[in-house]
Amino acid sequence: MTTFHVGRAAVTTLVDGTFLMAPDFLAGPVDPGTDERDTRGRVPLPIQAFLVRGRRTVVVDAGLGPDPEGAMESLAAHLGIDRAGIGLFGHAGLGPALAEQGVAPDDIDVVVVSHLHADHTGWLTGQDGTSIFRNARLLLPRADYELFVAGERRGLVPATREALRALVASGQAELFDGEETVSPEITALPAPGHTPGHTVFAIAHGGERAMILGDAMYCPAQLGELEIGAMHDVDPALARRTRELIARDAEAHGTLAVGCHFAGGRAARLVNGRAVVS
Ligand SMILES: [Zn+2]
Repeated sequence: MTTFHVGRAAVTTLVDGTFLMAPDFLAGPVDPGTDERDTRGRVPLPIQAFLVRGRRTVVVDAGLGPDPEGAMESLAAHLGIDRAGIGLFGHAGLGPALAEQGVAPDDIDVVVVSHLHADHTGWLTGQDGTSIFRNARLLLPRADYELFVAGERRGLVPATREALRALVASGQAELFDGEETVSPEITALPAPGHTPGHTVFAIAHGGERAMILGDAMYCPAQLGELEIGAMHDVDPALARRTRELIARDAEAHGTLAVGCHFAGGRAARLVNGRAVVS
């Protein structure tokens, strides 16, 4: 678990287990730089959410959830691969990760997700379908809601899908489009491609800037190597365009970038066209 600061905002990585992904899940002209592959060549990728403590207490993304097997099946179906093709270890839940920071779910003011895949929505709701973050404003990207909840596309655990439908109907969850103010320090920015409603989060205060990239990038090398894509981007050309915009923004502002699956919870800056990992 790591914490970095952006002005007055403290950003803490919350780990909810680690995937073992197929060797070819990233495609590109160079090795993406992920390390510590297993004997089958599979790549370990942490499943991360973020706690951002500034004027408000915010959780960005919500991990794999209380039904990890259901989540893995949903992801495999979305990827069009066999369930056995993805490994999982160390799944402990966001609750303990928050408790380690002295934070309870009821302390959270806002929960926002980068996109509606099973590994980013799991802990939004408990197994009874009610919100885990009972006092929080819950923000979901509308275009993903239309595809994965209202539409037929697989990617969510069926129980999560039904729970989100009910939370939106009751007004407890809100849908957002485009740029959205999440908290005084956090702005949601559209970053489509991985999914149509995929969103990244700029965190800015005191002249400092960071960005939570969701799944717009899977490893720091992608900041400097735009041809490296993910095999399951819904729209690969749009995903590449989004990576280019993020890279330009990161280089122009000296932004510290961190992804939901960056190995070891690493963060990186783009300096002279190359990703510099910190
Ligand atoms: Zn993901």
